[in-house]
Amino acid sequence: MSWQESSREAAPSSSSSAGGEQGGSVLPTRPIWKSIRRGFFGRCPNCNRGKMFRAFLKVADRCAVCDEALHHHRADDAPAYFVILIVGHLVVPLVLVVEVAYAPPYWLHAALWLPLTIGLAVGLLQPIKGAIVGWQWANYMHGFDPDGGDDAAAEIES
Ligand SMILES: [Zn+2]
Repeated sequence: MSWQESSREAAPSSSSSAGGEQGGSVLPTRPIWKSIRRGFFGRCPNCNRGKMFRAFLKVADRCAVCDEALHHHRADDAPAYFVILIVGHLVVPLVLVVEVAYAPPYWLHAALWLPLTIGLAVGLLQPIKGAIVGWQWANYMHGFDPDGGDDAAAEIES
């Protein structure tokens, strides 16, 4: 998964931004958890006033309020991965507990868990994508790093 590999590549640049002992521009430290939370609620990680998304799951190219570039994100399939992880760990134990405790008919299982699974997955996908974009922004990952250049070319070289 490219987003994980890139996070390791980006680590030296973010630590150098904190220390500032290396060449290149000194980047201010960005608050990671605050950026993740802002992204989770669909807000610009920089100003918390503009919207991160221009449509469902479509990240805006720039924040309409502070003009921060948001198109550099590379969330890729990480949001779907985390949604499956979270929803699976919620729904599967619930199914097992209800089956053991009440042994309801299968039609009732289907009526309960299918809408819950679909609803949770659709409802969590955009907040989790926003959180990942906020995390990438806070860590200067990919094109968010002004010293990084073309991250697509860097990934091909590595
Ligand atoms: Zn903004």
